[in-house]
Amino acid sequence: MTQKTQQFIIALSKGRILKETLPLLAKMGIELVDDPSSTRKLILDTNHDHIKAVILRATDVPTYVQYGAADVGVVGKDSLMEHGGEGLYEPLDLNISRCRLMTAGKPDMPPVSGRLRVATKYVKLARDFYASRGQQVEIIKLYGSMELAPIVGLADYIVDLVDTGNTLKANGLVPLEHILDISSRLVVNKSAMKTKYDLVQPFIDELCQAIE
Ligand code: AMP
Repeated sequence: MTQKTQQFIIALSKGRILKETLPLLAKMGIELVDDPSSTRKLILDTNHDHIKAVILRATDVPTYVQYGAADVGVVGKDSLMEHGGEGLYEPLDLNISRCRLMTAGKPDMPPVSGRLRVATKYVKLARDFYASRGQQVEIIKLYGSMELAPIVGLADYIVDLVDTGNTLKANGLVPLEHILDISSRLVVNKSAMKTKYDLVQPFIDELCQAIE
């Protein structure tokens, strides 16, 4: 009886992380068969029959890998820390999509009386940051366009990713406090590490070489 080959599913984060991950996969000899920018398929074939890719919102990647719907994933440290990392190993820093998690606001803000209002999609990271400084804040959860919040008076500050700083500048905001350095990480489902060791470990080793 022939043994059925195990499938290996890679979860990739949409957007700039995907753009910077595909060349690393290509270096490992893994190429997507479909064009991710035009296909409507949710599970993408690769040039290896047993390797599939799913392209997800970054915030969903740790969840898919945690529950074993994908064996490995590539995700920003921001989304990973916001998720909490439960059920995941984080064996590699891919050193791509580097940026900083920062607070930002209007320049020359007068001191705020009462509770600060902070708009962010990083509720946990923002709460932890302000708690570590003993500052009571009201966190306003947003899903995008955080820069708008201080302009229209929805919040005093935002917590968001900053790369060049151009987005803040274009909206009349300034970066203030540096919270965390961010880069993309490889995450691995803890049980796949055991049950699919022969697929997972070579993948980690080859990705490590591709990064170098
Ligand atoms: P920038 O104008 O270069 O500072 O980029 C800031 C905008 O891009 C913000 O809307 C960020 O949320 C987003 N951004 C910056 N770096 C990253 C990253 N590594 N991954 C995802 N989004 C990012």
